[in-house]
Amino acid sequence: MNRLIIKGGRLIDPAAGIDGLYNIYVMGGRIASVKKAESDASEAGPGVEVVEANGLIVAPGFIDAHAHLREPGFEYKEDVRSGTQAASAGGYTAVMCMANTRPVNDNESVTRYILKRAEGAAAKVYPIGALSVGLKGERLAEMAELKAAGCVAVSDDGMPVVNSALMRRALEYSKISGMPVISHAEEPVLAGSGVMNEGPVATRLGLRGIPNAAEDVMVARDIHLAELAGGRLHVAHVSTRGAVEAIRAAKARGVRVTAEATPHHLALTDEAVKGYDTNAKMNPPLRSREDVEALREGLRDGTIDCIATDHAPHSTIEKDIEFDKASNGIIGLETAFSVVYGLVEEGALSLNQALAAMSANPAKAFGLEGGKLTVGSPADMAILDLNGKWKVEAAMLKSKSRNTPWAGKELKGVVVKTVLAGNVVYSRE
Ligand SMILES: [Zn+2]
Repeated sequence: MNRLIIKGGRLIDPAAGIDGLYNIYVMGGRIASVKKAESDASEAGPGVEVVEANGLIVAPGFIDAHAHLREPGFEYKEDVRSGTQAASAGGYTAVMCMANTRPVNDNESVTRYILKRAEGAAAKVYPIGALSVGLKGERLAEMAELKAAGCVAVSDDGMPVVNSALMRRALEYSKISGMPVISHAEEPVLAGSGVMNEGPVATRLGLRGIPNAAEDVMVARDIHLAELAGGRLHVAHVSTRGAVEAIRAAKARGVRVTAEATPHHLALTDEAVKGYDTNAKMNPPLRSREDVEALREGLRDGTIDCIATDHAPHSTIEKDIEFDKASNGIIGLETAFSVVYGLVEEGALSLNQALAAMSANPAKAFGLEGGKLTVGSPADMAILDLNGKWKVEAAMLKSKSRNTPWAGKELKGVVVKTVLAGNVVYSRE
């Protein structure tokens, strides 16, 4: 039975309301005790591993509610192994992976395959099943079967569910199964062939735009359907002020809805597209300064529960081409904490809010173990150096893909170690 002590770090556990200097004792993969560092005179016995965390932050391991691990089918972009290593390097101890694999994760054999591949990996993997068979938006996938196989939610992420009656039925089943339905809120006809945010920047660049309304109308629809069906809705990658306002109003009247925003939608605007950099191309697109401010306000007041990466690995074949033709999305697991910490440094949100949105809140939204460091909880931790800086060198990343807008940039806030079930699974050299 492994034993580990994390000594003298500043423990921040938003779920328990703890922020102070503590020694954390781990036994058998779980938190055995948490003692105030100043009054703890216990000696580490033989065979006990000690991690000195003086000057560092000890937080619950991060939980990503939205990642694409690409396996099965697209292993040239990422696989479960490389994706979980990237997660671990980013302080993540759990990752929920989307169903748009090949074959699609719309049945138990694919779910079981993913879980098999995740055995012994550097982070826990929670598969998300497809909402519809083949992501085609026609027939509901077998949600009970997916749940029994280990899925924690359903989503056609990447593809909007255009058929409102199908979405209603998915939400009705979610009431029975308890599995949240994750909405990729996009009205595809309105989004059309847009490749970036509709607005003055798109006009100047001569690129077709996607209006905010493409997201706003679908978020509004899904909220009304969740209300009608009594199901559990989670809105993925919120990018617009209108969506934040709709979710805020829905929560106020008791609709069972949660939401996430990505680090890039919180940190960047559509100005990033100016150099036609395909690492600024994503869906939903990077929006205006006003939208970014609304997302930040939404995080501060709890309208947006989670920060999720939407880690979307693509090879150079899909990215190093004309902006119009390039695939959407960027990788995000390894840079998420530093980008979010940048927002803390700017004063856009508190460190406690940032850590809650990356650990406690996703655990709560999806009923997952973890996200807290109280006695008996899994010993899943991220050890962080807030003063540390690192230069993002794409070649050094654990992900198989390199599509990050932060390549070459210096970021503040470093993940020093990641602990999974009491084992140090990542250590920064
Ligand atoms: Zn996605």
